[in-house]
Amino acid sequence: MENTYIGLGSNLADPSAQVEAGLAALAKLPATRLVARSRRYRSAPWGRVDQPEFVNAVAQLATALTPRELLDHLLTIERVAGRERDGTRWGPRVLDLDILVYGDRVLNESGLHVPHPHLHERAFVLAPLAEIAPDLDIPGHGSVWKLLASVDASSCVRMAE
Ligand code: ADP
Ligand code: MG
Repeated sequence: MENTYIGLGSNLADPSAQVEAGLAALAKLPATRLVARSRRYRSAPWGRVDQPEFVNAVAQLATALTPRELLDHLLTIERVAGRERDGTRWGPRVLDLDILVYGDRVLNESGLHVPHPHLHERAFVLAPLAEIAPDLDIPGHGSVWKLLASVDASSCVRMAE
């Protein structure tokens, strides 16, 4: 079994419910166990600011799926949640699921980059990740808590429930 971290995000169609449904879907993946989950965080949109705020969370999985198999499952969960890809990067989305880290692997394949290329600079990923894995080493970037200390996390707030 490999230790892997998945980032979840939504800013459409009841984002909190979308993130919770995404977590439930992750828990049901074949050959996979949900080990831990963060609470939900709300944050201002990133990349393009003219859209609703996001809700984010991170899940830790133990899985026997390969990175590619896992990615295919994530894309299916996104599709079932109703995400439409119109080619707009960083635009509004019902559900976004990213492989943040997969063991200590560094993968740069077509459509599969691990660790996720923007992870080390995104407070909305680092804050929930730090809640469940502060000492995790991001290959090539260092520990999660050090990375979190180096970004502006002021617009990323843990939600009450
Ligand atoms: P972002 O998550 O950066 O906002 P998208 O979700 O729109 O961008 O991009 C999805 C595409 O990114 C997928 O089709 C997938 O092939 C590719 N991709 C590359 N690396 C990863 C990864 N580690 N996790 C999820 N998707 C990835
Ligand atoms: Mg994505």
